[in-house]
Amino acid sequence: MDSMPQNASQEPDLLSEESLQWLQRPVQFIKGVGPYLAGLFAKVQVRTLEDLLYHLPFRYIDRRQVSTIAELMPGQDACIFAEVGAAGEVLAGYRRKRIYEVVFSDGSATLHAKWFHYSRKFFDQRFKKGEKFLLFGKLDVYKGVKQFVHPDAQPIREFLEEEELQKHLGLLPVYSSTEGLNQRQIRKALEQVLAETLRFLPETLPSEILAAQALPELRGCFEHLHRPGSDESAIVLNSKENSAFRRLAFEELFFVQLGLHLRRGKVRRNLGYAHKNLHGLSQRLIDRLPFQLTAGQQRCLDEIYRDMESPFPMNRLLQGDVGSGKTLVCLMAGLLSVENGWQTAVMVPTEILAEQHERNFQRLLQPLGTPTLRLTASTPNSVREEILGRISAGEPCIVVGTHALLEEDVRFSKLSLVVIDEQHRFGVRQRMKLIKKGKPPDVLVMTATPIPRSLAMTLYGDLDLSLMTEMPPGRQPVVTRIMMERDRPKLEDFLRKKIAEGRQAYFVYPLIEESEKLDLRDAKKGFERLREVFPEFKLGMLHGRMKNHEKEEVMRSFSAGKIQILVATTVIEVGIDVPNASLLVVEHAERFGLSQLHQLRGRVGRGSEKSYCILATDFRRSNLAKERLKVMEESANGFRIAEEDLTLRGPGDFLGTRQSGIPDFRVASLISDLDLLEAAKLEVQKILQQDPELQSERNRVLRRVLEYRWSGRLGLAGIG
Ligand code: ADP
Ligand code: MG
Repeated sequence: MDSMPQNASQEPDLLSEESLQWLQRPVQFIKGVGPYLAGLFAKVQVRTLEDLLYHLPFRYIDRRQVSTIAELMPGQDACIFAEVGAAGEVLAGYRRKRIYEVVFSDGSATLHAKWFHYSRKFFDQRFKKGEKFLLFGKLDVYKGVKQFVHPDAQPIREFLEEEELQKHLGLLPVYSSTEGLNQRQIRKALEQVLAETLRFLPETLPSEILAAQALPELRGCFEHLHRPGSDESAIVLNSKENSAFRRLAFEELFFVQLGLHLRRGKVRRNLGYAHKNLHGLSQRLIDRLPFQLTAGQQRCLDEIYRDMESPFPMNRLLQGDVGSGKTLVCLMAGLLSVENGWQTAVMVPTEILAEQHERNFQRLLQPLGTPTLRLTASTPNSVREEILGRISAGEPCIVVGTHALLEEDVRFSKLSLVVIDEQHRFGVRQRMKLIKKGKPPDVLVMTATPIPRSLAMTLYGDLDLSLMTEMPPGRQPVVTRIMMERDRPKLEDFLRKKIAEGRQAYFVYPLIEESEKLDLRDAKKGFERLREVFPEFKLGMLHGRMKNHEKEEVMRSFSAGKIQILVATTVIEVGIDVPNASLLVVEHAERFGLSQLHQLRGRVGRGSEKSYCILATDFRRSNLAKERLKVMEESANGFRIAEEDLTLRGPGDFLGTRQSGIPDFRVASLISDLDLLEAAKLEVQKILQQDPELQSERNRVLRRVLEYRWSGRLGLAGIG
């Protein structure tokens, strides 16, 4: 490695800039790691020395025991010493494919090693008759012959020293890697880092917490996990149930919670808008509604009003399943702000949704004389100027918009409420940006994706939670069926009948980024086909590549019933509300996540008509895909579906977007470490009760770690 910091000989001050910088050094500082290898490391998210320490083995292989070929059992990971009997290229299988085969024997029996990828020249030189090898592989039995496919083979003569041989016979960590970066390179780089960098790593958790949670100290954890002792159990290590893994997972969960709670505390201490419930506009809206609020809407509204009436800023998550009527709740909240003479901003993820909200709001608000404004990227300049003028002049109003609301020149003069719809589409940072526009406003974030409790706690650890479980009355459950291709004619007859009776239908095609062009072609082809199948109906098409005014036009016609079949990509996934549409066909359903399917399904079943969701899928789908889709047939409960999804796919995928604001955990799992999450939360609360701003000397370490390691990732700038 490069030169050490100057005080290398003494015990370093672990919280000094110097120490922290040392940990942040790029992996290229490691001897033997040049720009090329550094590039490969970056592919597995390892950029700094600290990253490398945290690049934990995902599994361990046990090579402590050398077996004889005769005693090997099928499926067993094994290590043997054996001698080459014969070697060469052979033609194998009925396809007569070329493979390289070496016959080994160790006196007890023979074993065939096979390679499908190899360099003939290199292999001919390496596997000379009589040469002794150390072999690692998994035993297979093929037509009665014992074999290893692609074993790891080390010629004994290459081990110059006994010590080196021993290294290959221990309990070996296996790291996630990428093409061109092999395990030995990772282990070697780590060896240096463990020897020379570990000493700069500060203990991040107070000793009281370590004691209370029975967790080991930080440095020991890395030693333990990267270089497990020879008396360790591979089974325990592989189950990640050992204390070192738990300690690192706890640490991550702890700091995320600490950061979020700290931020919340800070927002809380500022005085914001104290709304008065004047029973004006909001009451007049209630009086005019053709239905009553559901018990859930009423309860959540009470909670929201209570927060808004308090002088401290509200920070609340409204979580309600698709179709539970969140929009009305947020509109009522907006009216409280307007009747106090203030302003409300509602941020939504798509233009279509902005347009739909504006239309709905206008319908309900016009009679009350409350203006609804819309601001998106496609708002013409002249209109934009006018809106910005009205907003900055302080006109009481409700503004619906997309990311366009975040622009610098959008200046509210009395922004007292910010609503963020479909929260999972926005990152923490975007949320903060809007909130910073003025005196701290009350904030309501709404999500239709039923986020499992574990995720909600991490993502929104700083929010209060309002839950809306009731559905408006008269809803019938959506009938959900998986459909195989051969049944398509039946489906089409069924649709023809229903549409003739006045219903409307969606056909949804997946659009997955990597293959966007192909998918779009798929959707367009589907559209053409449907036009031929249903010549008597009017069809419309909706996809993300269309111009905004075209999309709006199509949506408006569909809403008004002028289009009977809407062929769309997932742009309709969030929030679209057309109660008369009661038929939904999802093409290639196996390519969607369950939560996404649940969202899509939420587009139907919004009126009083019986609704259908047909999941069209290929015959050859895998078992896993089948299992997943079955969950949709069996459950209408968004929470259960989300849990299932999370288990099957993991959090990153589940949220479907990198911007989701969820920190990338290096160790912790939001599925299996729930107990740690709870424990971490309790410890955080204990600390903040005594020291709400983390100012005391004894909490200096926590503060420092939070600043240098987490502030960027959590959008916590400014807590320091
Ligand atoms: P989401 O929670 O998914 O955003 P929406 O707010 O779009 O749901 O509401 C779904 C539908 O339910 C809308 O058509 C809305 O007008 C209707 N709705 C909302 N509240 C009620 C209620 N209390 N009774 C009957 N229908 C309602
Ligand atoms: Mg909605």
